[in-house]
Amino acid sequence: MQTKVVLDESRIPTHWYNIVADLPTPPPPPLHPGTREPLTPDDLSAIFPMGLIAQEASAERWIEIPEPVREIYRLWRPSPLYRAHRLEKALGTPARIYYKYEGVSPVGSHKLNSSVPQAYYNMLEGRTRLTTETGAGQWGAALSLACQFFGMSCDVWQVQGSYDSKPYRRMQMETYGAHVAGSPSELTEAGRALRERFPGTAGSLGMAISEAVEAAVKDPNGSYSLGSVLNHVTLHQSIIGLEALAQLEEFGERLPDELYGCAGGGSNLAGISFPFLRENLAGRADTRVVACEPKAAPSLTEGEYRYDFGDTAGLTPLLKMYTLGADFVPAAVHAGGLRYHGMAPLVSHAYHEGLISAISVKQREAFEAGVIFARSEAIIPASESNHAIAGALRAAREATETGEERVILIGVSGSGQLDLPAYADFIAGTMIDS
Ligand SMILES: *Cc1c(COP(=O)(O)O)cnc(C)c1O
Repeated sequence: MQTKVVLDESRIPTHWYNIVADLPTPPPPPLHPGTREPLTPDDLSAIFPMGLIAQEASAERWIEIPEPVREIYRLWRPSPLYRAHRLEKALGTPARIYYKYEGVSPVGSHKLNSSVPQAYYNMLEGRTRLTTETGAGQWGAALSLACQFFGMSCDVWQVQGSYDSKPYRRMQMETYGAHVAGSPSELTEAGRALRERFPGTAGSLGMAISEAVEAAVKDPNGSYSLGSVLNHVTLHQSIIGLEALAQLEEFGERLPDELYGCAGGGSNLAGISFPFLRENLAGRADTRVVACEPKAAPSLTEGEYRYDFGDTAGLTPLLKMYTLGADFVPAAVHAGGLRYHGMAPLVSHAYHEGLISAISVKQREAFEAGVIFARSEAIIPASESNHAIAGALRAAREATETGEERVILIGVSGSGQLDLPAYADFIAGTMIDS
């Protein structure tokens, strides 16, 4: 019985997949926050390099991965695809469960798939400094390392709540050479205004984005870098699903009946699922893609589909997305990477068109699933990934009742080695069930 498929380095995809080429209807464009007209590349050039702006607006199906990026990808890619034999046994389910594990990246999550090309395209255009926000610290760590690869400096605004509760992430970022500040900070106008408006706030991704964007706009050699949400980020993450398709084939498995991914800004879900949606759209498969959100930030399942800002201070373009409102501050759940008010426009569009579905999961159910997974599959998943596992466990248990031989694929977006205090909170029985 095969347990995992590890592809050779030579099989790292040569191109990213852009779902825009295959969508039945074009996704609504981002708008200028002042004029409310569709954005032009010039509008974005203050904060992004042209290489990424071109990808943001591209409708080409395949975009070549530059060789220097593929060279760095070889450090951890292709990531493994596992058959969860022990989890299936623990659940007594007739379902065949597979999971694609992105926690093997040196920073512990899928985020490095996008930070490396983002730093690369910025370096090509002569930018020497990148600014960003980070929630759980995963994106900040990924960008810190990517900047180091290309000789750039990196400033990270880390959501204050996670800055306080996740000191190891800050140490990781600093080890890779980044400067890290808790957000909202005294370092930016937006930060000072937010501190006045929300005294003692634990911060949010929306607030930290405002600070990082402001810092990039004010620095002629600086660019802003976003770890999720935007089209070019979902594009870079498509490498996950492309590899998974090849790996399922090596297992001799059919295309999955169901695919579960956790969704904060939507990048890992888009990354693993869009290549499978391509199969659906071509009539070759009928995989049910399920976005698993935290109940504390349920943008798809409880938000509105409308134009909204990506940040709290209203500095970013307007994006058509499922949103809880740019002012929304989610409860301080452990899955910091999922505490975002909006959802990637491409994921939102796919949801609106009925191409994917969504569920929300409270954090105790998520960690219950994470612990079952850790005790059977050995890997301790990231707090965020636990939401996808919880969704898959619901399906596997249904299969146990009906006796169906379902094929289930889970995107396990990261490792939980630095999330152990969250597991301790769950095990002690003190976890708030929001
Ligand atoms: C950041 C992060 C997420 C959430 O971001 P998405 O853009 O929705 O993928 C999920 N899992 C992990 C491990 C993360 O670091």
